Amino acid sequence: MKREFAVIGLGRFGGSICRELSEEGMEVLAIDTQEEKVNEFKEIASHAVIADAQDEKVLKELGIRNIDHVIVAIGDNIQASILTTLMLKELGIKKITVKAQNDYHEKVLNKIGADQVVHPERDMGRRIAHSIISNNILDHLELSDDHSIVEVKAGTKMIGQNLVDLDIRANYGCNVVAIKHGKTNEINVSPMATEVIEPGDILIVIGADKDISRFEKHLV
Ligand code: ATP
Ligand code: ATP
Ligand code: CA
Repeated sequence: MKREFAVIGLGRFGGSICRELSEEGMEVLAIDTQEEKVNEFKEIASHAVIADAQDEKVLKELGIRNIDHVIVAIGDNIQASILTTLMLKELGIKKITVKAQNDYHEKVLNKIGADQVVHPERDMGRRIAHSIISNNILDHLELSDDHSIVEVKAGTKMIGQNLVDLDIRANYGCNVVAIKHGKTNEINVSPMATEVIEPGDILIVIGADKDISRFEKHLV
């Protein structure tokens, strides 16, 4: 079953969503005020139209009401992003995802009922900052304000030990959800407690930030 999406705003972020959805075989209506942006997506999206999404009449004419999920990726024009979101909400769109430009924008979007607010520049910045702080942290994914998943290179203290020896859950309150073996490139998504950690292994660890921090300090 093909699901229907609309992407409003075809900048780098919206454009990338549009491309990926289309490549995954989804029906996508691509909308932008700029003709050249729309032309760029003519061959990629199912439909690409030049339109100002702030105009309620335009949104209705485009049949946006029949679309399951609308992504608002209007960037710098915060007013246009808010007005568009509000109108989509009033038209009864089931799911609205909006890119926020800053924390105040995010607050307003949540208040007016956006279902999902994303903050790609801020979040990507945070992920990269974590990997810059420690050479052993390869990636960091925030699950909530105080929980994360991190991808870490096995530290020297871990080598030759297994999860029971290290007693990670008891000592640090975190769970190792997967181990990527450097040698074989295999990934074990539910490691046994007896699995021995070898040089070059990468651990995927989930937990509270404060626990992950302790884990990193002592073992990575
Ligand atoms: P990115 O960082 O993702 O490249 P951005 O955050 O810099 O984008 P803008 O370039 O300001 O965002 O806006 C993204 C796109 O949204 C632009 O292509 C712009 O033409 C389009 N856009 C702005 N206002 C509207 C509107 N009212 N209706 C439809 N599209 C709009
Ligand atoms: P627990 O009482 O903590 O639930 P358990 O009964 O599951 O332990 P084992 O599976 O043998 O016992 O694991 C013993 C210890 O090894 C756990 O307490 C934990 O500290 C550590 N451990 C095992 N698997 C993991 C894992 N995936 N991530 C982190 N620590 C683990
Ligand atoms: Ca931008």
